[in-house]
Amino acid sequence: MARKDGSGHGLSGGTGPARCYDGDVISTANLAWAADLRTVFLDRDGILNEKMPEHRYVTRWEEFRVLPGVSEALRRLNEAGLRVVVVSNQRGIAKGLYTAADLEAMHAQFQRLLGREGARIDAFFICPHETDECNCRKPLTGLFEQAVARFHEITAATSVMIGDSPSDVEFGRRVGMKTILVDARDGRAGAELADLRFASLAEAVDALLAAR
Ligand SMILES: [Mg+2]
Ligand SMILES: [Zn+2]
Repeated sequence: MARKDGSGHGLSGGTGPARCYDGDVISTANLAWAADLRTVFLDRDGILNEKMPEHRYVTRWEEFRVLPGVSEALRRLNEAGLRVVVVSNQRGIAKGLYTAADLEAMHAQFQRLLGREGARIDAFFICPHETDECNCRKPLTGLFEQAVARFHEITAATSVMIGDSPSDVEFGRRVGMKTILVDARDGRAGAELADLRFASLAEAVDALLAAR
């Protein structure tokens, strides 16, 4: 609704003080679009739970370490009436390290934990494939299309993607969503393409809700 910048989405950081990472003061002017927000797309590893070292995967619940502040951040999104959707590449399934059923069981455990904290995730959308064999491995947009098929009200203009990797930002940009990069290491390729950057999900949620 507020977005009329079809060609320029994602580039607001280049024209204004939209660098919120490392404790810079957040200007709500940069977040005017948050007033229209209805759906928050979240990456999983590195946003909700600790990311494993390179080339390792979270294969079972015992390895699923929820990051600090996540339950509360999700509960605040829930209470604000925002839909919370997880979109996650899980190539470990294609590699045979765990099954789709294992993953579902892990997510059920996670939901139980969240439930005890008064929080919930509305849906998980997973790419279980290897690279170059599907249309749903981020940054490809298949998981967004799956989410729209489930929740017909979802639109890119009323959604934001929050992730910790440039491929999350690229996914959001391809769809036409606003994008937030969390826990970005300096100098990471593509990091400057995100609309906003924060140190954690909790800080991103604070800013989004304060702007509504
Ligand atoms: Mg991640
Ligand atoms: Zn896929």
